[in-house]
Amino acid sequence: MFELDDQDILPLSLEHNFWTWSAQGKVNPIPVKRAKGVYFWDVNDKRYLDFNSMVMCVNIGHGEERVIEAMVEQARELPFAGPGMATKPRALLGQALSEIVPAGLTRYLYTLGGADANENAIKLARGKTGKFKILTRYRSYHGATYGAIAATGDPRRAPWEPAVMPGVVHFLDPYRYRSTFHRHNPDISEEEFTQDYLNHLEEIILYERPETIAAIMMESVTGTNGIIIPPQGYMQGVRALCDRYGIVMIADEVMSGFGRTGKWFAVNHWDVTPDIMTMAKGLTSGYAPLGAVAMKPEIADAYRERTYEGGLTYNGHPISLAAAIATIRVMQEDKLVEKAAATGEAMADMLAELKERHPSVGEVRSIGLFGILELVRDRKTKEPMAPFNGGSPEMTAFRKYMLDHGVFLYTHWHTALIIPPLPITTEQLMEGFSVLDQALEITDQAA
Ligand code: PLP
Repeated sequence: MFELDDQDILPLSLEHNFWTWSAQGKVNPIPVKRAKGVYFWDVNDKRYLDFNSMVMCVNIGHGEERVIEAMVEQARELPFAGPGMATKPRALLGQALSEIVPAGLTRYLYTLGGADANENAIKLARGKTGKFKILTRYRSYHGATYGAIAATGDPRRAPWEPAVMPGVVHFLDPYRYRSTFHRHNPDISEEEFTQDYLNHLEEIILYERPETIAAIMMESVTGTNGIIIPPQGYMQGVRALCDRYGIVMIADEVMSGFGRTGKWFAVNHWDVTPDIMTMAKGLTSGYAPLGAVAMKPEIADAYRERTYEGGLTYNGHPISLAAAIATIRVMQEDKLVEKAAATGEAMADMLAELKERHPSVGEVRSIGLFGILELVRDRKTKEPMAPFNGGSPEMTAFRKYMLDHGVFLYTHWHTALIIPPLPITTEQLMEGFSVLDQALEITDQAA
């Protein structure tokens, strides 16, 4: 299609590209050429096992012809229509989503990705309630646009402070391994632990005054900041607080949705229906940019008579919508959610085994195919292998070893995340885990 020698991909990209999330002088991108299933290849035909679903998004795996076909067909028939037009993929995606989201979330606003899905969720909650504050957690990431980064709790918001979106208040996550409240009584029961964090949230609601709080927005299972799985009763407790104080509950399922946790959406684990649920990533499995805001009719009805002032040229792009419909159908046909739940159990066992074998593994957590290892210098003190918001030579060497041996994974501070495409087999998981087993010898030396 386009003429370019493979070996020119990297130098030419380096010459002209400004890279996101990077110091421009330090980038070292993999010149990726092609991808299929759970693998991708660079221009030298080196194969990588994709333990991060690229950017935690290629849930159905790479090179899925059924999605590519749908996109090509859509491009031939109608590659673009404005966001105000009714199209076949717009009609059909609504139908497909209504089959899989928690019952009651019947209206969908289509966005370009996750950040602007969250931005719209915030606008909708403010519009519905007439209130302005948004409560989010410290260990959250909600996207990199101005509003979404203001809502984000983690240090990625620091360069953009003072935040341009006023009214964000952060609260603490129910993070058992490093619980601020329970350093001195780590054996507290799950019930008491959960209640302590719900009490903390309620106290913040009261101090901030419920009559000013539009929404509580949370990742249903925290993604990059630690695969923090809410304890039993927590999500139900947040739902109850939202109901008690007239607050809109927003679940950010951008990373945790579309089978990642072994259910269609993470909220399904606790039978909780948020008022608004945002999605992206797995929605099209990365085949085209798309996000969505699913909402209850009462949220949409706030705009029955007044205009919703907001929208972008490419909201509801037909090719992205077609990719999403095909992605959902592939997931249903191949029973990928059920498969992820089963393979996820095997992965939990593999993670537990690594923890037993390696002193530098402080804790492992997973739900479905959403897993993490916390690497520490000392299991007793839990001193992380890299400082908060920083790196370390050991973590750099660990990741390099994985890449050198053909396993692509995401490391964040002192953690390593395992987020493979859902069709991965137990054998393919074992292939990656055997490299992990070797790489952990590096961090063990510092433990
Ligand atoms: N929310 C969560 C939980 C995410 O993990 C991400 C991206 O990583 C986003 C929002 C932002 O999505 P996007 O990068 O598509 O804007």
